[in-house]
Amino acid sequence: MARTKIVATVGPASDSPDMIRRMLAAGMTVARINFSHGNHDSHIRTIQMLRRVAAEEGHVLAIMGDLQGPKIRLGHVKAGGIPLAVGDEVVFTPHPGQPAMIHLPHPDLIAVIQVGAKLVIGDGEVEFSVVEKTGDTLRCVVTVAGLLESRKGVNAPGTALVTSSITEKDKDDLALACRLDLDYVALSFVRTAVDVKELRALMNAAGREIPIIAKIEKREAIEHLSEISDAADGMMVARGDLGIEVLPQQVPLLQKEIIRCCNAAGKPVITATQMLQSMIEHPRPTRAEASDVANAILDGTDAVMLSGETATGQFPVEAVQMMANIAEITEQAFPYEAWRQRRRQQDVGMPIDEAISAASCEVARQVGARAIVSTTVSGYTAQQIARHRPETPIMAISPSPHTQRRLSMVWGVECLLVPDFRDTDAMLAQAVESIRSFDIEPGDKLVITAGVPFGTYGKTNLIQVHEVRE
Ligand code: PEP
Repeated sequence: MARTKIVATVGPASDSPDMIRRMLAAGMTVARINFSHGNHDSHIRTIQMLRRVAAEEGHVLAIMGDLQGPKIRLGHVKAGGIPLAVGDEVVFTPHPGQPAMIHLPHPDLIAVIQVGAKLVIGDGEVEFSVVEKTGDTLRCVVTVAGLLESRKGVNAPGTALVTSSITEKDKDDLALACRLDLDYVALSFVRTAVDVKELRALMNAAGREIPIIAKIEKREAIEHLSEISDAADGMMVARGDLGIEVLPQQVPLLQKEIIRCCNAAGKPVITATQMLQSMIEHPRPTRAEASDVANAILDGTDAVMLSGETATGQFPVEAVQMMANIAEITEQAFPYEAWRQRRRQQDVGMPIDEAISAASCEVARQVGARAIVSTTVSGYTAQQIARHRPETPIMAISPSPHTQRRLSMVWGVECLLVPDFRDTDAMLAQAVESIRSFDIEPGDKLVITAGVPFGTYGKTNLIQVHEVRE
């Protein structure tokens, strides 16, 4: 089984018990519900189906709801689209039904965009430069020729919108995510930590605490990465929109920077978008795509994500299987020694939980442990260990089904559910007992870590080496 986690977007191509069963068997650990599509009734049906099938198959599956955010889209243009050549001029208006103008129903964007700024349509299919603003219209000249089609996404790289990253639709979708008790919520177009805090405040007002994945796809977010990492529970390298905000050739290094930032914080990071894009139509990926997945794993990503490949593609199961195969092969050559050296470079004055997590990896290696067993209520301890990428398998033991599911996003962690911990002795006994079913032999050593007293987030302070007896 791969140590890297696999997020698969559920859509028309995969929204059936049979497909989900096969995708779970192929290695899917997190299902992504994209709130940009479908409606609440369809989401409820899908989420109930996912939970039922995962339970029937005995798989732990986390569900992540991905909020659309303030995605800017064109209005409707004539059927078949409008072909545009370089040098053509068009006028955008926020008002529908204006002859000879293109409907852009976002007066907030038109208000702040400057003459000389760029407008990118779709994935860069058409690009414009703004040449004149008159009242609430924009006169633009085509700089990249292509077909302008209805409802295509619009990006204005370098133009900062003042509106919130959380729209009224997102609030509605968040309420649904809270009601259905999803395991993660992803927030699109995060700019600063304020966006993340605003989402958390909305959730807290509803009495919920769902971990937040901040999608990094804005230039502004790159400038505030460290504060976003403090505020969020994880990040997604959302390479689709990121590659429009910045140049595509800047994405590889930004991906590494975002992954490094999350690894340092011990928070899960997902690498997303176009990973196996050609598998939407073909049963095999390109060699470049296979390399892309492998390189994200070598960079230190916790999870790799499939979007169109599993949502609308012709080969959803094959795409998950391919990702799992690439991960398994890459992990055989994972640079564990380089990560160990990195771990050893951190010294003097580190917080107790970090020292214990790092030490448990080292002790496990030194005694040749069969597993590092992390007893964890919130998942924190297991995440801290995973961030060091030890070669020794990591087994989390938790009384919380939420934690068990959430750890399905964290590299290398397998989580077993146990009855509640009361004291250290009971916890240690339970840890040893639960892991017995996992091919453990007398004489095997387990490195056990915990935070005592239990249930206190971020207090990993105990380490024990246990030798398994008959
Ligand atoms: C992305 O832009 O890469 C992304 C994952 O976001 P979405 O699929 O919501 O556009």
